[in-house]
Amino acid sequence: MITLGIDIGSTTSKAVLLEDGEKILAKKIVPLGTGTTGAQTVFENVLEMAGITPEQIDYALSTGYGRYSFELAKRQISEVSCHAKGIRFLVPTARTIVDIGGQDAKALSLAPNGALMNFVMNDKCAAGTGRFLDVMARVLDVKVEDMGDISELSTKEITINNTCTVFAESEVISRLSSNEKIADIIAGIHASVAKRVSGQALRVGVVDDVVMSGGVARNKGIVRAMEKEIGHKITVPEDCQLAGALGAALFAWDELLKEKNAG
Ligand code: ADP
Repeated sequence: MITLGIDIGSTTSKAVLLEDGEKILAKKIVPLGTGTTGAQTVFENVLEMAGITPEQIDYALSTGYGRYSFELAKRQISEVSCHAKGIRFLVPTARTIVDIGGQDAKALSLAPNGALMNFVMNDKCAAGTGRFLDVMARVLDVKVEDMGDISELSTKEITINNTCTVFAESEVISRLSSNEKIADIIAGIHASVAKRVSGQALRVGVVDDVVMSGGVARNKGIVRAMEKEIGHKITVPEDCQLAGALGAALFAWDELLKEKNAG
C-alpha cells in the first residue's frame, strides 16, 4: 500500500511516498512554497521517481501552511503534529524538537511515548526564521546553503543588536562597510537566530534527545549556535527538511489502517 505525504510550506514544497508505512519510495523538495506550482511539481516529481501513477496512491494527506490547496489530499493535519510524527520515525528517542522553516519557528515538547505535550510557535516575526537568513544571505551576496561553512571561518564574535529583520539588515550593511569579515558577520547572524529560537525551546522545556527539523537545520552554523545557547547536543537527521511530509505520509498510513479495521 502506498501513502503520500505532502508538506506545502511558505517557502518550499516537500513530498514523501511511503510503502506500507515504513519504506520511503521517493522523496523530493522543491524550492517553491504555497500559492505557486510547488505542490503540483513536487507531486509529479515523486510519482516519476517511484515510477507510479496517481491512481496507485492509496491515501494522500497534506500538511504545512498551504495544506488546504492540495485537492488530492483526503485529509489535512497541522505541521506541528506531522513534524512530531516524522521526527519520531527518524529519531525514536526525540523529546524536544526545534523546527525552523521559511517563515516560522516552533519548539515542540514530546512525552516519552512521542505524544505531543506542548509547543511554542513564532509565525509573527521574520527574526528567528529562514526568512531572516535568506535576507541576510542576499545582503552578503552568499548562498544560504553556504552560510554554515563560511561561519566556521569566524575568528571574532560579532553581536547583531537589532532583532527586527529590517533594522538588522541595515546593521549588517554597516558592518560590511566597516570592513568586518563576512564569516564573523554570518556567525553573528547565526547567534542572533539561535538566541531568539532558543527562548522558545526553553519555554517548552529542553529534554534530551533534542532534534532539529526544517530547512534551516541544514545550516550547521545554526545548529552549533543553538547547541551553545541551550547547552544540549542536537541531532539533525539527514531528512530534517522532509520531516513534515514524512509525518503526513505516516498519518496517511494510520488512516488506511483505521479504514481497514473499520471495514
Ligand atoms: P517551509 O516549510 O516553511 O517552506 P523549510 O522548512 O523548507 O520551510 O525551510 C526553508 C528555509 O530553509 C529557507 O528559508 C532557507 O533559509 C533554509 N534552507 C533551505 N535549504 C538550506 C540549505 N541547504 N542550507 C541551509 N539552509 C537552508
